[in-house]
Amino acid sequence: MPPRPQAFTNLAEEKSRKSPKPSNSPSKGRNVSQQPGQLTFVAPRRAKPARHLADLSMADRRAAVTELGEKAFRADQLSRHYFERHTADVGAMTDLPAAAREKLSALLPTLLTPVKELTTDGGTTRKTLWRLFDGALVESVLMRYPDRVTMCVSSQAGCGMNCPFCATGQAGLTRNMSTAEIVEQVVSGARALAAGEVPGGPGRVSNIVFMGMGEPLANYKQVIGAVRRIVEPAPHGLGISARGVTVSTVGLVPAIGKLADEGLPVTLALSLHAPDDELRDTLVPINTRWKVAEVLDAAWSYAARTKRRISIEYALIKDINDQEWRADLLGKLVRNKLVHVNLIPLNPTPGSKWTASRPEDERAFVRRLEFHGVPVTVRDTRGREIDGACGQLAAAE
Ligand code: SAH
Repeated sequence: MPPRPQAFTNLAEEKSRKSPKPSNSPSKGRNVSQQPGQLTFVAPRRAKPARHLADLSMADRRAAVTELGEKAFRADQLSRHYFERHTADVGAMTDLPAAAREKLSALLPTLLTPVKELTTDGGTTRKTLWRLFDGALVESVLMRYPDRVTMCVSSQAGCGMNCPFCATGQAGLTRNMSTAEIVEQVVSGARALAAGEVPGGPGRVSNIVFMGMGEPLANYKQVIGAVRRIVEPAPHGLGISARGVTVSTVGLVPAIGKLADEGLPVTLALSLHAPDDELRDTLVPINTRWKVAEVLDAAWSYAARTKRRISIEYALIKDINDQEWRADLLGKLVRNKLVHVNLIPLNPTPGSKWTASRPEDERAFVRRLEFHGVPVTVRDTRGREIDGACGQLAAAE
């Protein structure tokens, strides 16, 4: 675990001492576009990014290639270059005639432009800030471990779910990302790994977590498209095992039901953060629509359908949700289920009056859950010092 950045924590505590009025919003001085508790489901209407190969199923790619005046099999060739070799430069596709390259380049527009790259952990954690075609900013994080490489990707520019402890939630929703914009984050990581740019030698992406900016299930169609491109074998897609893909949600109950019907055995992570409606209504405002009992029911149905263990995400916030009685209540709600509880020490966002739990409270919380026989881990906080840890992705330049 990387050392805790002392200056960062002190700043958060300093501000809280000066701010006597309790408030749900930890984002003083920042561009707050949502009132506390306000939810935004429908993304603002905006110009759409250009159509890209990764937006399309293989059948649609063949049709698109034909429309461009090329033989349908060129779609397979192009797909191999993109999904297997991670090449988007048609100039390098020497198996294609020059005239074909020119035409087919229309299916590989540049969607993401890197603005900033920050690394830590000796280069094995790297966060990239991307600019989209319309100036919207999103971030992705690559984390290399001895046995796997996980990429944390964004699914929306901003987020409409307004969780008061989350940096992304404070800025509101700019727009939904397209399938290809989501996939491109993974392809760029895969490219860097294959080229040996990440310490540890050439490697592959093994895990994808939809835990960057945005609420994936509020951008359902594009996210499902991206999951399909990620798991389909080459040349259709990247061929990453669905078991390595995690979709994280605040708990959009109808969309959880739909996801269960997709036949994609991805892991569902549920950002619970409180076991009681009273507190969860404020920490995860979507709870005012779908209560703890409803969202847990949806999660158990998901587990029954997919046979995948539900990951319950719980950010431990000092003196807010870390009491032993809440651990007990959580334990009772989830015991004997196909579940794993992931405790995340809160990453304080700039200006937040909230901070991570005391170590002794964290330990007590773990013990109570273990008492109920619930599998529990405390998540590592990789990337914290580059603001790349959970909930810190704010895309400020
Ligand atoms: N919208 C989705 C996915 C993005 S957030 C969701 O909420 O699940 C990914 C995870 O980081 C969620 O569990 C979220 O609650 C958590 N998170 C957000 N802000 C955090 C913070 N400041 N500290 C720790 N975890 C945080």
